[in-house]
Amino acid sequence: RQILVCGGTGCHASGADGVIAAFKECLAEENLDVGVQLVKTGCFGLCALGPVVIVYPEGVFYSQMTAKHVKKVVQEHIRDGNVVTKYLYKETVSKDGSVKALQETDFYSKQKRLSLRNCGVIDPEDITEYIARDGYFALHKVLTEMSQNDVIRTMVQSGLKGRGGGGFLTGQKWQFAMQSRNDQKYVCCNADEGDPGAFMDRSILEGDPHSVIEAMAIAGYSIGANQGYVYVRAEYPIAVKRLTIAIQQAREQGLLGKNIFNTDFSFDIDIKLGAGAFVCGEETALMASIEGNRGEPRPRPPFPAVKGLFGKPTVLNNVETYANIPQIILNGAEWFNAVGTESSKGTKVFALGGDVNNVGLVEVPMGTTISEIVEEIGGGIPEGREFKAVQTGGPSGGCIPATLKDTPVDYENLVKLGSMMGSGGMIVLDDGTCMVDIAKFYLEFTVDESCGKCAPCRIGTKRLLELLEKITSGNGTMEDLDKIEELSQHMQKSSLCALGQTAANPVLSTMRYFRDEYIAHIEEKY
Ligand code: SF4
Repeated sequence: RQILVCGGTGCHASGADGVIAAFKECLAEENLDVGVQLVKTGCFGLCALGPVVIVYPEGVFYSQMTAKHVKKVVQEHIRDGNVVTKYLYKETVSKDGSVKALQETDFYSKQKRLSLRNCGVIDPEDITEYIARDGYFALHKVLTEMSQNDVIRTMVQSGLKGRGGGGFLTGQKWQFAMQSRNDQKYVCCNADEGDPGAFMDRSILEGDPHSVIEAMAIAGYSIGANQGYVYVRAEYPIAVKRLTIAIQQAREQGLLGKNIFNTDFSFDIDIKLGAGAFVCGEETALMASIEGNRGEPRPRPPFPAVKGLFGKPTVLNNVETYANIPQIILNGAEWFNAVGTESSKGTKVFALGGDVNNVGLVEVPMGTTISEIVEEIGGGIPEGREFKAVQTGGPSGGCIPATLKDTPVDYENLVKLGSMMGSGGMIVLDDGTCMVDIAKFYLEFTVDESCGKCAPCRIGTKRLLELLEKITSGNGTMEDLDKIEELSQHMQKSSLCALGQTAANPVLSTMRYFRDEYIAHIEEKY
């Protein structure tokens, strides 16, 4: 019998360590500690219901566990074989009292977990559990059966696009780096997840760090690099700890280091901690920070694939992008291609938050509609309120009204609607939300996080915020709306990096769909 306890940040914050300690104590008291395996995993996804516990072989899902609940579960379920239904996640209990598997609930049944496939399933601090789930098989395959060109061809054909926000074809990026002639190249992982409400990358590192390590080694082989760096936020201590353990275990198993699988290929990874600057998620700023310089963007070209870290050709992808790669290598480009839309392949992980019942992490095929994500998987809006809008893409994204909820989510559709995929934050807003306040919130964030290097962003974001403050304080005029649009266009065209180029998106998208609320503020109806 197995008891899985989520040890991700969400459940950790709600007391998972106490639940694990209680399980150990109660199992010992009942002399059950020998036959029962207690595993601390990464995130299951339903973060709002933590601490969460899954008991196998039944596969039943207990939510909001406490030490008191644990005692009852051990005595009645583990010892006597009777599931304690009153502590189960309510969606798994039918009206007639029968218990469903978690996979049959609305929250899970529409999901397709590729990059999250091991999260909440394995012990991320035990490399053997990753290996038991085909871990490092893809690295073995590329090193023993595939040329560098084979790997890159597979990546290009898979259609995988960068999940960090840019949406650039991963295989093409690798191809450019492979074609750059240099005796030293690097592979970097962007784990500097900074969007408010986004925690996809953190959960993958906490739940399945080896998938990222393996993918970075595959990237290293394909472009001819022998060194990788993971740039991860220092505010993610659990992710950093598990990544550190995973790198150490991979080294001990000969899966990092010299002559991996007895081939000529050598590759190692170091961790670099970020200090919390949002702009360091921008690739050139990130590399400057790794080099020990101030984390500021620089103009491109040259692109990192030609001149990146320490001036050498570099591949930089984010955590979720890497987590897909071992599966693509093992199953082939067509397998990955079969999921998603014509132009956006595979799945996307979203951090679902805000005014929604099922707050947590979800992974769906590209092309799943906003309605399916918010109303079916997310369980709709709490307290009988109406769904008003969804904010995607963080401070670079925009707000999409509920009237467009049947839009299939992919890179292109979100841009057409004035938002963007971003890294995958999805904040649901109910009918009690002032959309001007939402725009102001994101703009305050970008004003704080602008690095100040270029004037359009440094000064433009401040002036834009002043205009919004003027409007929300009841002193705005209709001319201010024109000024906002004009200023936003200048920022989009002339800012140095994406932070400034996209900072006006939350304002422009709310003006596009909720202009009446701006006018109501101006006419002092709010
Ligand atoms: Fe810095 Fe903003 Fe300019 Fe980017 S756009 S370089 S964040 S000032």
